[in-house]
Amino acid sequence: MQKLGALEAGGTKMVLAIFSGTGEILQQTSIPTRTPEETMPEMIRFFSQEKIQALGIGCFGPLDLNPSSPSCGYITMTPKLPWRNYPIVKAFQEALHVPVVLDTDVNGAALAESRLGAAKGLDSCLYVTIGTGIGGGLVIGGRCVHGLIHPELGHQLIHPDPRDPHPEGFCPYHTSCLEGLAAGPTIQKRWGVTAKDLPHDHVGWLIEAEYLAQMCHNAMMSFSPEKIILGGGVMQQDFLFPLVRSRTVSLLGNYLSCAAVEQGLDDYIVPPALGTRSGIMGAYLLACQA
Ligand code: ADP
Ligand code: ZN
Repeated sequence: MQKLGALEAGGTKMVLAIFSGTGEILQQTSIPTRTPEETMPEMIRFFSQEKIQALGIGCFGPLDLNPSSPSCGYITMTPKLPWRNYPIVKAFQEALHVPVVLDTDVNGAALAESRLGAAKGLDSCLYVTIGTGIGGGLVIGGRCVHGLIHPELGHQLIHPDPRDPHPEGFCPYHTSCLEGLAAGPTIQKRWGVTAKDLPHDHVGWLIEAEYLAQMCHNAMMSFSPEKIILGGGVMQQDFLFPLVRSRTVSLLGNYLSCAAVEQGLDDYIVPPALGTRSGIMGAYLLACQA
């Protein structure tokens, strides 16, 4: 029986799964993310016991995915210091002797949503997670976009909302980037309560919706994806969806005329159909590519 390994590599935990060749999950486990020295042997043991034939990895970034680069397959400038400049593909290939395909966690999730989830049957979609950070994966023509490096949608610059007491945001690299203004932890930094506990009628949610709507507007104007999928912890507050949709329609200013906009983006800006499974399903699809 064909077995494929899937790894969703996150900053807090690693989710590992074994899939059959036809896409059933045979086994799944998760372990805390520590240093590579501590975490890699445990993951290698899991995958080698199962004699997988290929491994797909959806990983936190930034990553070097350029096949002509000497550090292709490395995790590069991550703030998770023990993993900075870590050759994750090479480490698994040398230990497991199987093909390994690496992509960003969000590109993996976008691929899964495009093949099996909210954007099934469409040619393109954008998947954005709004959690501890903000990241976006883009599928166009059925393939994940890499380009120069890979998209880093979370660090696009945003117009601060005049009601925001911290208009410069909290990103150590940029002034007023999306992640610095709208990731989950910024809500607590700004208002002193967690995103989960911020009351629904608090102005903080209107500001959050404003920033996410600016991102949706920018994405529609830049890439014209056929679906925008918003996931991650912050979007558990599902009352945000109508706020983001209606603010996006306002920002578009009647410039784009299409059915999705006429319908108020109700079926266009949507939650992930695969829920929290899009990450691991994406890693499985990457393994299939191998
Ligand atoms: P990660 O980004 O670390 O993979 P999540 O997508 O779950 O994980 O994001 C975690 C962040 O999302 C938390 O820091 C918190 O700010 C926010 N969050 C988690 N759950 C909720 C919730 N139910 N409502 C609002 N915000 C939440
Ligand atoms: Zn930034």
